[in-house]
Amino acid sequence: MEIRNFVIIAHVDHGKSTLADRFLELTGSVEPRKMREQYLDMHPLERERGITIKMQPVRMIWRMPNHPHLEKNQPSSKNQAPSSSNSKQEFVLNLIDTPGHADFSYEVSRALAAVEGAILLVDATQGVQAQTLSNLHLAQKQGLVIIPAVNKIDLSSAATDECAAALGELCGVLPETVLRISAKEGTGVEILLHTVAARVPPPYGACKRLKGLNVATSAELLRALIFDSAYDSYRGVIAHVRVMEGVLRKGDRLSFMASKAACEAEEVGVFVPELVPVKELGPGEIGYVMTGFKEPEKVRVGDTIAHAQFKRLNALNIAALSGYREPEPVVFASVFPERQDDYGRLRESLNRLKLEDSALSFEPEESAVLGRGMRIGFLGLLHIEIVAERLKREYGLTLIFSHPSVAFRVKKRGGTDYLLIHSAGKMPESHEIEMLEEPWARLEIVTPPQFLGAVTSLLGDRRGFLTQTLTLPGERLLLGGEAPLREIITDFYDALKSVSRGFASLFYTLAGYRPADLIRLEILVAGEQVPAFAQMLPREDAARIGRMRVEQLRSFMARELFPVSLQAMVEGRVIARETIPALKKDVTGYLYGGDRTRKMKLWKKQQRGKKKLKEMGHVEIPPEVFLKMMRQ
Ligand code: GDP
Ligand code: MG
Repeated sequence: MEIRNFVIIAHVDHGKSTLADRFLELTGSVEPRKMREQYLDMHPLERERGITIKMQPVRMIWRMPNHPHLEKNQPSSKNQAPSSSNSKQEFVLNLIDTPGHADFSYEVSRALAAVEGAILLVDATQGVQAQTLSNLHLAQKQGLVIIPAVNKIDLSSAATDECAAALGELCGVLPETVLRISAKEGTGVEILLHTVAARVPPPYGACKRLKGLNVATSAELLRALIFDSAYDSYRGVIAHVRVMEGVLRKGDRLSFMASKAACEAEEVGVFVPELVPVKELGPGEIGYVMTGFKEPEKVRVGDTIAHAQFKRLNALNIAALSGYREPEPVVFASVFPERQDDYGRLRESLNRLKLEDSALSFEPEESAVLGRGMRIGFLGLLHIEIVAERLKREYGLTLIFSHPSVAFRVKKRGGTDYLLIHSAGKMPESHEIEMLEEPWARLEIVTPPQFLGAVTSLLGDRRGFLTQTLTLPGERLLLGGEAPLREIITDFYDALKSVSRGFASLFYTLAGYRPADLIRLEILVAGEQVPAFAQMLPREDAARIGRMRVEQLRSFMARELFPVSLQAMVEGRVIARETIPALKKDVTGYLYGGDRTRKMKLWKKQQRGKKKLKEMGHVEIPPEVFLKMMRQ
């Protein structure tokens, strides 16, 4: 059987998961009664939000019906094709569905390293978008065969011809060769699958095996790339692998080249997309290995698996496959368990989550008020939301999140080194700082030309600027720009969508640190600083944002038995103030009649109680309030 490994890449919502559904049906991979929309979005959060956050591999067996007009295009594979013309050729199609949101492009880049081809989809009503370009560039860098296709041609607003022309020009092919499909209705999907079989090359290792260049013995060289992993509470760590060379069998002794761990392959199998055991995974195949490890850190994404005996005998010098560049976290938040004894569980949960979400990075952190917690690095705000939600639902943790912040570089007066500060709460006082730098983002914005003015002024409002304007095929502009990362990670994307009626899209990468004129905004509750609410801001924004923050906080906090003051402060000066009025507890309600003195006595007692509470100055800030403040 021939193998074809491919991914579907596109901007978010252009139809990747829907196209995967049609492939599953066409190949009979999912029983019709089990079929549901976006079948490969298996995680409950994916189904709820209608977005893909995890790449999902699936193996399909396809018996290709003969298509006379496609036969001519068959590449070298005809050598292995059955000679009889009416017998169907069988293919193993390994598909990886990928997320489209920019926060998860690290998932896409890992999937690309496990395949030879990519279908690049563009929504005919939306045209080429920022992620279309960034994904195309990633795929080209990986040397993949790219099959461009225009999707959603069933919609009346589809600009199919323009879109095909634009996509053809980007991919360097004639517009006529760009496929036109409707993933929803199935139009053109079978032709697309034929094109995959015809144009995506078989995996290199598999070719060698078929041609007898590499005789399969148990002593052969095995190299398998770990592109993802998962955790099963009974079976331990499951490594998702692409076998590059050699054969991986159940019972094999395996060694992990970077982590130096070793294990026996307890089970090997394929994704259908549920896990199904097989005897072995041959060269070029995609599947999984159950390692039995309980320690998540032994399996690292990007590591190479080899046979253990080679390491012992040192017989062969097996080179590790080139792994992945660790993604750089762009935004940080401190996370504290509401109950201190949950700290161990928080650490363990993050370790497990990291198996499925290898972009997560974290380190322990202590806070005087909140106790022990973790400082977590994320790839964007959506990433924070997804992780927060998963920690709550899948690991049952009630957590307090600090205001998300970028990392700052600081040089203290008289100091020589730069310090990397991940939260405003940890920032030295202004007078101690000699130099403060913040990260910048390099932006790629794709927009129809009529929004150029609106986008430019939005960028100006966020202290950014344009560096370049390029005309793209299909009436689109590609704007290059730069802006402080801090401005981009908050609500820039939403603002961009709203000034462009949904048409503009954004992709950004880090552009290094630059000097910044920022000050720290402190929020005080009942006279006490709450480090989790601290924020670094441009000086001129401090008054406006300070006022907004205390107003928000007032609306979120419940009343206490005493008035609670809320203050915003910069450089020791209070710039905004609010008071939460006291809750009047009716202590005399049960007294009826006119005994005024008894009532007075009770009121006096209540006053004393309030005074005592006030002296203690202790105000509980519930975790919901922290989360609400973070979302603003
Ligand atoms: P993904 O984010 O790229 O995986 O996109 P999805 O597959 O989740 O699709 C996003 C939305 O577009 C869903 O509501 C789909 O039903 C819809 N959609 C996908 N393909 C088509 C199509 O060919 N025609 C129409 N009309 N809608 C489509
Ligand atoms: Mg999807």
